[in-house]
Amino acid sequence: MGLADADLSMGAGAAGGSVLGLPGSGVGGVLSQHCAICGDRATGKHYGAASCDGCKGFFRRSVRKNHLYTCRFSRNCVVDKDKRNQCRYCRLRKCFKAGMKKEGEHMYHLYYFPFYFPM
Ligand SMILES: [Zn+2]
Ligand SMILES: [Zn+2]
Repeated sequence: MGLADADLSMGAGAAGGSVLGLPGSGVGGVLSQHCAICGDRATGKHYGAASCDGCKGFFRRSVRKNHLYTCRFSRNCVVDKDKRNQCRYCRLRKCFKAGMKKEGEHMYHLYYFPFYFPM
């Protein structure tokens, strides 16, 4: 009468650091040093995300005119400093993913007029 030992096969342990897939651009990690969209040097926080002037301007133009871009590939283009102009669809998508918002959204008046309720 033996004990049927359940031997757990802990074979492929996927123990690894889940590092953000940034292309090697030196030491990252510090807040708002790199553009959240293309990894270029950020000039500050624009529309809610750290971004460079290029992406800031791109985002502003895009949302102002309500541009509808399309991706010629499978909507997962690399957006970095060199390739950021190649696909505007993916660039804009990345802007939104990074937390960029149009001006005048709900958070706006919350910050500026916390006591103001137009009722
Ligand atoms: Zn950028
Ligand atoms: Zn694309």
